[in-house]
Amino acid sequence: MSITALIFLSLVMSISLGAFIALMLTVGMDDGIPRTITVIILSLAIGFGFVFLMNKYREYEEEKWNNGICTICNTEYHFQSAAKGKSSTTYYYVCENGHIFETNCFFQK
Ligand SMILES: [Zn+2]
Repeated sequence: MSITALIFLSLVMSISLGAFIALMLTVGMDDGIPRTITVIILSLAIGFGFVFLMNKYREYEEEKWNNGICTICNTEYHFQSAAKGKSSTTYYYVCENGHIFETNCFFQK
């Protein structure tokens, strides 16, 4: 993902998820400038933190994915199936010798 896309995604997350959590966390504070500033800072921290972690996770999965080549026998993985869970989908890929690669990221072949 490009840096522009990451920043854009972070801002979107800040405005939606970040602002929601920040408002919940500052519910005891009086309305006014201090609360507004706290909410903005918290929102941005949550938004950027969340996207940063997601991106780190994706990079980690990409490393394991190894460009779609099985690390055990060096044959190509083929998409087998997807299992939808409550909050995420698990994708299964199988190489020519039946080694299974399981991930929460969808990799385009
Ligand atoms: Zn294999």
